[in-house]
Amino acid sequence: MSEKHAHRDCSHLLAGLSAYIDGEAEAALCAEIEQHLAACENCRVVVDTLRRTVLLYREEQPAPLPEGGEAAPVQSVRTG
Ligand SMILES: [Zn+2]
Repeated sequence: MSEKHAHRDCSHLLAGLSAYIDGEAEAALCAEIEQHLAACENCRVVVDTLRRTVLLYREEQPAPLPEGGEAAPVQSVRTG
């Protein structure tokens, strides 16, 4: 299996990924990155990982989720 896209593009795009994930990249760069991601699974994985890391970092959750995997629903307390 030969890949048609130039792999040197990867490092070029990776340099702009943080801005892309932050939503600060220019439209042209976004289009370029998304076009590349469509053809390059390696970069998709990188973006996916980076994005999750950024989101986790931003949320700054004080406590990790319970291991049971059960999401505690927010229950409205009836008053009166
Ligand atoms: Zn790539």
